[in-house]
Amino acid sequence: MTPLRLHNTMSGKTEEFMPLVAGQVRMYTCGPTVHDYAHIGNFRTFLFEDLLRRVLIQQGYQVTQVMNLTDVEDRIIKKAADKAITIDEFTEPYIEAFFEHLDILRIERAEHYPRATQHIFEMVSLIEVLSEKGHTYVSDGSTYFRIATFPRYGRLAHLDVSGLKAGARVDVDDYGKDDPRDFVLWKARKPGEQSWETPLGAGRPGWHIECSAMSMRYLGQSFDIHTGGVDNIFPHHENEIAQSEAATGKTFARYWLHAQFLQDAVGEKMSKRLKNFSTLRDVLAEGYQPRAIRYALMTGAHYRSPLAFSPELLKAAASSVKRLDEFAVRLGPIPSPLAGEGQGGPVPSPLAGEGQGGGLEVQQRWDDALRDDLNLPAAVGHLFEFIKAFNMRLESGKATADERAAAMAMLRHADRILDVIDFPQAVDAEVERLIAERRAARDRRDFARADEIRQQLLAMGIQLDDTQDGTRWKRIR
Ligand code: AMP
Ligand code: ZN
Repeated sequence: MTPLRLHNTMSGKTEEFMPLVAGQVRMYTCGPTVHDYAHIGNFRTFLFEDLLRRVLIQQGYQVTQVMNLTDVEDRIIKKAADKAITIDEFTEPYIEAFFEHLDILRIERAEHYPRATQHIFEMVSLIEVLSEKGHTYVSDGSTYFRIATFPRYGRLAHLDVSGLKAGARVDVDDYGKDDPRDFVLWKARKPGEQSWETPLGAGRPGWHIECSAMSMRYLGQSFDIHTGGVDNIFPHHENEIAQSEAATGKTFARYWLHAQFLQDAVGEKMSKRLKNFSTLRDVLAEGYQPRAIRYALMTGAHYRSPLAFSPELLKAAASSVKRLDEFAVRLGPIPSPLAGEGQGGPVPSPLAGEGQGGGLEVQQRWDDALRDDLNLPAAVGHLFEFIKAFNMRLESGKATADERAAAMAMLRHADRILDVIDFPQAVDAEVERLIAERRAARDRRDFARADEIRQQLLAMGIQLDDTQDGTRWKRIR
């Protein structure tokens, strides 16, 4: 089996992935700044992280993912103060909308969503360690990291830092800014600002220290993967490395993965600042289905290539999703489609022996493409080639029941990553089968098994309701 290979921004190379602990992956994904609704550019990055997570899980890893919520920074403090409400009151609706949008786009939940405002203690402790080790200085009540004390500074972004002016400082959090100088760890309170009373003085944390403190709190001092969008590389991730490694003396994260931008029609980065953005609500209001939006953002380009957002992209995605649905319908109800899914070897290609499978089986091609730095566009290309060929086989009446079952298993395998296909009849049949199995388990008083089946159905998005007339079920997503 080809190994999983991922492009590491740190080395600039695509490397074989080896976790620190066999079978387990710990990863940190920089989350949204909840000063407003996230735009779909942000969701391109979160969908890339969903792809990574799902591929790791399909590869058999147990994944612990942390995504922070940046709920304190300049814009949040200012907007909350303007409205004369607390930070929490201000951010709450955006946090709620963020989770709602994750669900709409079927982004699998991370294990932890720590909020910056709830980890002030960890941040202060980390800054204290840095101060003890001589990496900081205080000026006007704010604490700064002195990058001259960290010779490796600039390695991630491949910067030449020799010309940087040591001792100069910036105390802004605006991370659109390319300022390569010392950065703030703790910002002194300004009049009218919400602040925390700490041994560092009254103030609030800088943006970068949030991620160092929260990642180490949940994942340990060294972990496997750290991700974000390419705009996070510098200065945010560079600063995270400096703070974390200066404090611990250990490698912070081993693989750094970054998603390229979603752009507007003229090739500009989609951003709040340029006002060239759409939110998920905007795109849904135009009548596009969540599935088409998910598909467009995930498969429109490889995650390391820019993707231009356009109505054509969404229309093409909607038609691809429709073709996948239609293929599922054409394959018809298949007995026990979920049994053994995800385990075992590749699905035998129904086309093998016909000379059309090209020797390499379709699932093998799909998996190989994903193991090659998550090349989902290529994987989807193989899937559609297969569908085209298999449709011809269905039309000619040559497809056997076994071949149809194998094709359905392939479609389900692909949908473990894509998560866009509606499997109408097949799902219904499977749900009925599981309900019957659960009834049998209850009849023999095997409540553990019955409960396990209820959980399995829940994971499929099916909720059961035991009534006097028997068990009813409904889709909850
Ligand atoms: P923010 O809420 O600004 O902190 O951004 C959340 C995430 O979205 C970060 O990982 C950014 O790198 C990412 N991001 C911001 N703009 C874009 C864009 N146009 N395309 C893709 N990712 C983006
Ligand atoms: Zn971060």
